[in-house]
Amino acid sequence: MSEGKLDYNIKLDENIQYLKGVGPKKVELLNKLGIYTIKDLLEYYPRNYEDRTKLSNIIEFIDGEYYLFVATISDSIHIQRIRKNLTIYSTFVYDDTGECKMTWFNQKYINTKLHKGDKYLFYGKAIKNYGVVSMESPQIYNLNDIDKIQGIYPIYPLTSGITQNYLFKLETLAYMNKPLLPEFLNDKFRKKYGLCELNYAMQNVHFPKTFNAVNDARKRLIFDELFLLQLALMSVKNISLQEKKVKKFTNVNIDEFLDLLPFKLTNAQNKVIDEIKKDMLSDKVMNRLLQGDVGSGKTIVAAVAMYIAVKNGYQATMMAPTTILANQHFEELNKYFSLLGINVEIITSSTTKKNKRIICEKLENNEIDIIIGTHSLIEEDIHFNNLGLVITDEQHRFGVKQRLKLSNKGNNVETLVMTATPIPRTLAIMLYGDLDLSIIDEMPPGRKIVKTYAVDDSYEQRIVKFIKRNIDEGRQVYVVCPLVEENEELNLKSVEKIYDKYKNEYFREYNVGIIHGKMKNKEKDEIMQAFKENKINILISTTVIEVGISVSNATLMVIENADRFGLAALHQLRGRVGRGDYQSFCILKSNNKSIKSRERLKIMEKSNNGFDVAQKDLELRGPGDFFGIRQSGLPEFKLTNLLTDIKVLQNAQVAAKELLEEDKYLEKEENNKLKKELYDKYGDKLSNIGA
Ligand code: ADP
Ligand code: MG
Repeated sequence: MSEGKLDYNIKLDENIQYLKGVGPKKVELLNKLGIYTIKDLLEYYPRNYEDRTKLSNIIEFIDGEYYLFVATISDSIHIQRIRKNLTIYSTFVYDDTGECKMTWFNQKYINTKLHKGDKYLFYGKAIKNYGVVSMESPQIYNLNDIDKIQGIYPIYPLTSGITQNYLFKLETLAYMNKPLLPEFLNDKFRKKYGLCELNYAMQNVHFPKTFNAVNDARKRLIFDELFLLQLALMSVKNISLQEKKVKKFTNVNIDEFLDLLPFKLTNAQNKVIDEIKKDMLSDKVMNRLLQGDVGSGKTIVAAVAMYIAVKNGYQATMMAPTTILANQHFEELNKYFSLLGINVEIITSSTTKKNKRIICEKLENNEIDIIIGTHSLIEEDIHFNNLGLVITDEQHRFGVKQRLKLSNKGNNVETLVMTATPIPRTLAIMLYGDLDLSIIDEMPPGRKIVKTYAVDDSYEQRIVKFIKRNIDEGRQVYVVCPLVEENEELNLKSVEKIYDKYKNEYFREYNVGIIHGKMKNKEKDEIMQAFKENKINILISTTVIEVGISVSNATLMVIENADRFGLAALHQLRGRVGRGDYQSFCILKSNNKSIKSRERLKIMEKSNNGFDVAQKDLELRGPGDFFGIRQSGLPEFKLTNLLTDIKVLQNAQVAAKELLEEDKYLEKEENNKLKKELYDKYGDKLSNIGA
């Protein structure tokens, strides 16, 4: 390997090994940081900056802050040998405003470097204790170097063996060779969205002269990350290509439907219904994401939308991820719709061939108004007569493609996707960039908080007693086991082991049931039905009960190995209890003693609000690990922080929309370079990114 071969005209895709000072060992370490090429190096951004622009006076020092200041040594160096490996060097310095004690550890050179009566430039963190000011291990510079030292210092994320100084030198070196990045946003566009030039951004993210320059630089680079992603997402989903719709909905009076309900809608439900109505009556096709915590009452909102569609002469459909859930929706909705002369059908994998044929025929003949179902709905042989509205429940269980497949069974259909998986707003915009967002942020009245406790195995016997008490009061209990690993057989074993213990050891005099993913749908339905009818006291299950199921008599959920679940999943599970008037409980069992794991389960104890839980989980784990992101194929960002960069995200989204409206296939000359950049970055993924 020849070091430092290149001294000028460096190419962006050149290996970093050719930079001066980068030997094989360093190459390895840099690779660990994800730096392979010059471009990677330039895109290795500081995580923060040190402000050394200002010269301060000692009197201004605040405890814990960093300062650059000029001061005179007032004493000779005091040397204290504490033990073999620890020698302390200390002295006092002063300026016109005050005095500061300086201490260094094991730095022999201090003794010869600093001279009593001389002035130096120092940089360090102030410690203030009862009015006494001091600094530990401040950096020392000669006064002559002041112009060189004063400024803004980038702070890079490091790995052991790579120091700040080393990285800074490398960045400088790479930069001195002026590797120009191709500007892919034209002047007009940059002006419109207030963005600086790319190479200016690159220079100022690493070597800024002012904090304004840092902000401009970051704004541009973050915009790029988000803008390109939005463009890619939108191209996949074809959103901006929405034509005006041919069909026209007229306003219908929904009171006839609402009057049938045994409850009054919450304000939040009414607000969301208004938003949906507005969409449907407008001349744009509805594309809306409805988020609402578990139990917030999304199904009824969906029903109102379907009612409006049907009253306008269209068919509507609702797709749910499991047979159990589809059945539940069917039962609840048919209860009302059958009274209004609206024909509702259901189709799942348990529908017999014969019945399916009949349903298909009726659908095509417009004899069915609303069809509820599972994935079976997207099968080839299902044709609608006049599909006007598609609703997907628990959207995160489906891919974009499945959603589109269903929508494509009609022309310009209105789409409503619903999810209880609470996604922080930024992520929602990110993942569902094409969708308008509605939120039900209010629970139906009278709901009690599910009391949640995180405990370890030492509580086993107490839990058994508690379960008995609940059952003896007439209530029912879920016991949930996590997926231990990707191995179905092993998972089955772990549920069955617990089932065996509960049935044959702890609860011999009770009815214990088991339900898991390996069972036939028919079997599962029977078990769920029995549980609904309170013929089963304790239901042992894997996460098949995760979504949607409603048994209001169930008041206790015990979750085994709770630390193996994501918080979003735990919150979903917990939503299965607390659905009636009884006080409900959730016990999270875990023997994981790690601080992080305990902290996560504590969040569950403290909060009953899905959005809070998700937000905290996101903060704790970082966006990279957050539920859904990995799965959805979203890239890791280099600079963007989804928690804080929401403004730029919104900007980028508007920009992407506007651009595609003007030039939907990026065919205009002025967008050539942008198109190339987009393909360089996402070309291979353009068909598989998306939620
Ligand atoms: P989710 O949003 O989790 O899908 P559901 O739509 O299943 O919630 O509603 C949960 C329960 O709350 C259902 O039994 C439903 O009938 C009931 N419900 C919905 N809206 C209200 C309301 N405004 N007042 C009282 N109960 C309601
Ligand atoms: Mg639901």
